[in-house]
Amino acid sequence: MFKKIALSAIMATGLMASSMSSVTPDEAIKLLQDGNKRFLESKPVHTNATLERIKETAKGQKPFVTINACSDSRVPVEILFDRGFGDIFTIRTAGNVSDTDQVATIEYGTEHLGTGLVVIMGHTSCGAVTAVASGAHVEGNIPKLIDNIIPAVEKVKAKYENHSHDKWIGEAIEENVWQSYEDLLSKSGIVKHLVKDGKVKIVGALYNIDNGEVSFLGEHPNLKKLLEH
Ligand SMILES: [Zn+2]
Repeated sequence: MFKKIALSAIMATGLMASSMSSVTPDEAIKLLQDGNKRFLESKPVHTNATLERIKETAKGQKPFVTINACSDSRVPVEILFDRGFGDIFTIRTAGNVSDTDQVATIEYGTEHLGTGLVVIMGHTSCGAVTAVASGAHVEGNIPKLIDNIIPAVEKVKAKYENHSHDKWIGEAIEENVWQSYEDLLSKSGIVKHLVKDGKVKIVGALYNIDNGEVSFLGEHPNLKKLLEH
């Protein structure tokens, strides 16, 4: 009896390594796109947002996607994809960075919970990227966070010498999505192997805070090279 309870407790918290989700990465993208479309057309059906779903998922979670997004209050992931409980394994940190804790969480979402799709999602008017681009003074622990964003901003800034960041901030935000994608792969042998084995697909995405639309950017343009080492 005790054994049975202990095992179910482990499974409920998702600590046991499990097989990959039955939802393929491409099917997962379609679920997200369909949900965003319903949201944009003001026809959300509030998928899996019922008390029955809460009771069902209390027994264990099987999300179909891991999303690394920004903490910005204008980016409520479940709402903009019209999804509910147990659907999306979410990480939200300012600037959607992939530092140690975010990478560890993505490893958990993929290897343990079996999500076959990882989305790194930036958004327009991101304050974290803008702070770096404008050279804002930051203190406390924030410098350690924006360290992750600086390489992307420097790369784009170098292309636009003598232009204020207003001109290139959009490009820097997109570059920061790719930076986070690269950081994830360089910091996680686990995720890299899952991608190499074809078990996990990582895509970039951009959320437009002006109109609620999510654009999927596909896989990293240099993915092959990123997987080499
Ligand atoms: Zn942001």
